[in-house]
Amino acid sequence: MHAQTIGRRGGPGPGPGSDRLPERADVAVIGAGLIGLSIAWRLAKAGLAVAVIERAKAGDGASLAATGMLAAAAEHEPGGEALSPLCLESQRLWHPFRDELEAESGLTIDYRREGTLVIALGRDEVERLRFRYDLQRRDHLAVEWLSGPAIRAREPGLRPTVTAGLFCPDDHQVDPARVMVALRQAFRAAGGRLIEETAVTALIREGGRVTGVETVAGALRAGTVVLASGAWAGEGSLVPDLALPVRPLKGQSMALQMTPRSGSLSHVVWTEQVHMAPKGDGSLIVGATVEETGFDPHLTAGGLFALLEGARRALPGVEEMQVAGVWSGFRPTSDDDAPILGEALPGLVLAAGHHRNGYLLAPVTAEAVSTLILRGETLPVAAPFGLARFAARNPGESA
Ligand SMILES: Cc1cc2nc3c(=O)[nH]c(=O)nc-3n(C[C@H](O)[C@H](O)[C@H](O)COP(=O)(O)OP(=O)(O)OC[C@H]3O[C@@H](n4cnc5c(N)ncnc54)[C@H](O)[C@@H]3O)c2cc1C
Repeated sequence: MHAQTIGRRGGPGPGPGSDRLPERADVAVIGAGLIGLSIAWRLAKAGLAVAVIERAKAGDGASLAATGMLAAAAEHEPGGEALSPLCLESQRLWHPFRDELEAESGLTIDYRREGTLVIALGRDEVERLRFRYDLQRRDHLAVEWLSGPAIRAREPGLRPTVTAGLFCPDDHQVDPARVMVALRQAFRAAGGRLIEETAVTALIREGGRVTGVETVAGALRAGTVVLASGAWAGEGSLVPDLALPVRPLKGQSMALQMTPRSGSLSHVVWTEQVHMAPKGDGSLIVGATVEETGFDPHLTAGGLFALLEGARRALPGVEEMQVAGVWSGFRPTSDDDAPILGEALPGLVLAAGHHRNGYLLAPVTAEAVSTLILRGETLPVAAPFGLARFAARNPGESA
């Protein structure tokens, strides 16, 4: 099972159905999540014949479970220095990516630029927030320290116990449900083929090169195959000889409906326990748990309780909000929490392991992978994120 969902979570909605599997394509992409579709759209726009093969429905993996934060500053942690340039480049690329996506799909993606507040409740949390602030400043991220009253002036619904906070003005957000519909639309408008409910069962290899995929509906020959199968990239069934260090990291989230009585938020707000992201349709996404439970998709009372308790601690109005939906999903998490991008075998390109930053990193991933396929060049900003880095860390083990 991909995930468990009760109520609203968004999705591709009605639209043209799936395409038939062609016999041949320039590029075959395994997985119609955000990453696979972003790359495929770029390549189709460049004039290649691209087929995306998805075993469920587009977005059914992590991509429709996400909150849609583009949080290069708020997510920054100790050890994140290596990833930061990639995140910042992608944050910059989001503007043209959004403009093109909206223009070519004819849809809006609820790109919101109010920014993100990271708040502290009580003295201990202020100390930890100060540490985070110093780290962000040291790494030249856009961030501003605010007093408790200054935070509440921006978000009057927050409790008076908010002691201090950070404002990250460049950490914007999108609505994942809208992004996935728009990507699907734009990709197909560019001539791409989307084949859903069709699992890829094996790679075709000839003379040391990957030359296509076997699926439950037949074979597809392709000049290049892109593995964008999210948390499932590490399962090893398609490329057992590569042992990709990608695992599922479960997250449970919920959507609440804001009302005039409950009050509302306009910024994304982070506490130490939860994040809360207001969307253009009046919903507030509260997320997300972080659980090492393999591919167990079940929603748990403990997980949902933690989300509600964490939200209520900062925003009392949540008690009045209706529950619109609850769901789980699997972050595709690599051993160093950074994506794995680049050629792994002749004819096989990897685009997996985006962990909790897939939305933030989609534009730079699409740019890097399409540049590699179209021109054979590695973008300098993506160069540190090849599979080889794991072999270098664990000499003797297969990459
Ligand atoms: C609760 C939660 C909140 C998140 N919030 C954010 C956020 O706010 N900001 C952010 O940047 N990121 C966030 N993320 C992370 C983000 O969702 C992921 O990094 C991103 O969606 C990964 O996209 P993907 O396309 O690689 O994977 P997926 O969306 O999982 O897509 C992979 C697809 O491959 C398909 N597939 C697998 N195997 C096969 C096969 N053999 N044949 C055919 N198809 C196959 C799957 O069915 C799936 O649809 C969040 C994630 C979760 C779970």
